[in-house]
Amino acid sequence: MSRPARYDALFEPVRIGPVTAKNRFYQVPHCNGMGRAFPSSMAAMRKVKAEGGWGVVCTEQCDIHYSGNHQRELRLWDGKDIPYLAKATDLIHEHGALAGVELAHNGAHVSNLESRAVPIAPSATATRDLFPGTARAMDKSDIRAFRRWHRDAALNARRAGFDIVNVYAGHDMTLPINFLSRRRNQRTDEYGGSLENRARLLRELIEDAKEAVGDTCAVAVRFSVDELIGEKGITAKGEGHDVVEMLAELPDLWDVNISNFDNDGATARFSDEGYQEEYVKFVKSVTTKPVVGVGRFTSPDTMAAMVRNGTLDLIGAARPSIADPFLPRKIEEGRVDDIRECVGCNVCVAWDRAGAPFRCTQNPTTGEEWRRGWHPERIAVRDTADKVLIAGGGPAGLEAARALGQRGYEVILAERGRELGGRVTRESRLPGLATYGRVRDWRLRQLKSMPSVRILPGNEVDRELVLEAECSVVAVATGAVWRRDGVGRHHLAPVPDLTAMPVYTPDDIMDGRLPRGRVLIFDDDHYYMATVIAELLAKNGCEVSLATPESLLAAFTQFTAEQKRVGRRLMELCASTHALSALSRVEPGAVHLACTYTGRETVVEADAIVLVTSMLPRDALFHELQGLGQNTLAAAGVRRVVRVGDCLGPGIIAAAVHSGHLFARELDTGLSDHTPYRRENVELDWDQAMPNPAGMARGEM
Ligand code: SF4
Repeated sequence: MSRPARYDALFEPVRIGPVTAKNRFYQVPHCNGMGRAFPSSMAAMRKVKAEGGWGVVCTEQCDIHYSGNHQRELRLWDGKDIPYLAKATDLIHEHGALAGVELAHNGAHVSNLESRAVPIAPSATATRDLFPGTARAMDKSDIRAFRRWHRDAALNARRAGFDIVNVYAGHDMTLPINFLSRRRNQRTDEYGGSLENRARLLRELIEDAKEAVGDTCAVAVRFSVDELIGEKGITAKGEGHDVVEMLAELPDLWDVNISNFDNDGATARFSDEGYQEEYVKFVKSVTTKPVVGVGRFTSPDTMAAMVRNGTLDLIGAARPSIADPFLPRKIEEGRVDDIRECVGCNVCVAWDRAGAPFRCTQNPTTGEEWRRGWHPERIAVRDTADKVLIAGGGPAGLEAARALGQRGYEVILAERGRELGGRVTRESRLPGLATYGRVRDWRLRQLKSMPSVRILPGNEVDRELVLEAECSVVAVATGAVWRRDGVGRHHLAPVPDLTAMPVYTPDDIMDGRLPRGRVLIFDDDHYYMATVIAELLAKNGCEVSLATPESLLAAFTQFTAEQKRVGRRLMELCASTHALSALSRVEPGAVHLACTYTGRETVVEADAIVLVTSMLPRDALFHELQGLGQNTLAAAGVRRVVRVGDCLGPGIIAAAVHSGHLFARELDTGLSDHTPYRRENVELDWDQAMPNPAGMARGEM
């Protein structure tokens, strides 16, 4: 198959200064929780994107100096960091993509937890990562030094093989954007005051980089044109516009977005595809240089329209490239239906923020490319004669069936309900979660072309079916149920007195059994479920109150970059919210909450309570089959029974999909005696010579 002509424009080469991107697909810098801690994993993940057809593949932010160090990102402090970055660029180049690096100094955004250097900033200011401390104001010698570090990093980036060097002035995080900011820059010298003065450092960094490497490398600027805080900050109609106009022709490319990261990386619950267009569309009118922008693009028609209507020259993507590293290739080959669309959940962001290798709800292979050798498109053909019965058509069962079918296994997928998708189907009907249905839809589309997989909706798997099915491996993927007794993170024993009023769980709500009147939602889950139920019930006319033992509403959503939006929505919708509150007792018409610090009680009048606390695996079938004993199972030809997904351990959808995929690869989900993936160890460097402080300033290139 070949692509429809309407997508031709997406495959035109684009000149970026001295280099040329082979097409318009530009993977913008994005973090991944692997960085320098797991550099082989990071490099393999980038390689797969290049293989998938992205014309440009960038790294995440790459610290240039120990005075602005981020805990888990890449590093280019000196020449010692070149080899692992060179590995990444080599792998990216193997597939004809350009390699970009995002040079970063995090200023007051970080507390330099490793180096212990006093952070630096345009003006003295408290550090912004909650660790106690104050960044000192940079004097002129600091600014000169910073320019030198940046220039040296650009030179080292070229040595590492990068084709594009990004000057990073974005997301309210780095020194150049903080110098630009009226809020963060109170200087009275030539680097403060007027916009021209505040933009001086950014101008100098671009000029320095161009002078150092501009003959062979493109110098791009990654700039946030609007902070979404009105006149207090940079706006696309104000200083954001003026900065681009002022520096219009200086860089070789403008990579533009909105700030801060919570805005740039907004979830699908709060933003639609293309949500940044209104802010960035002016950029092309004030520069002749190529412009890249993002907007969680997964539709090739939207992408082509962005190019056609003159909004963007290059289609930027972070999350869509994680969910489907082969997105460009699939468009090129006319396989648009095969695109695994990002659901906009920010699970990838969450695990990076938690300091762990990232993961993806849609793509279970991401982060596993090097350590397990998993590829998003290829999988080993079957190597056993097993026939597999999967009980349950939720995210784990569907992914297991799909990947087993891809391997060529004969599979029966039986689902007790009439509809497939399990929890993703049910959850996708809740407010703001419609895109979760993509987890089901992509898998069902793939399964359509797999004749070896038989799907039987409306068939509950029981002992008799297992013994008659003539399947040698049985995967029990029957999901989980929400607890009705209040047990979760805070309450480790059932909450007493719950018979005093009607009790609902998320399962009730998703089954359409809705409370009426005054409802207290108790959230000890801390993710999205309690909050979308609050939205649903409020829209349904209930007077909703929400209580949580945590100090923040929906505390986990800090990791998914949506806590402020979630919190605001709850404040707007709920009659009252109660943080630091556990359940004390329940009586007809009232729930007594106890402060988790003092025990002091608050009474909330309520006609019903919704408990969003934790889930239990629905694993009765598994235990029943285990109870049959090995001989009975063997007589029926069954050699193995395993649990998959939420049935093994209830968690997030991404964990269920990963579990289903792991099962398809290994026909097992149990623990092994040995670590089942390659580990990346720190090398002992005991005999390294102490640095000579006097020689460090310029000599470490
Ligand atoms: Fe998209 Fe969610 Fe995957 Fe991130 S984790 S790439 S937001 S589907």
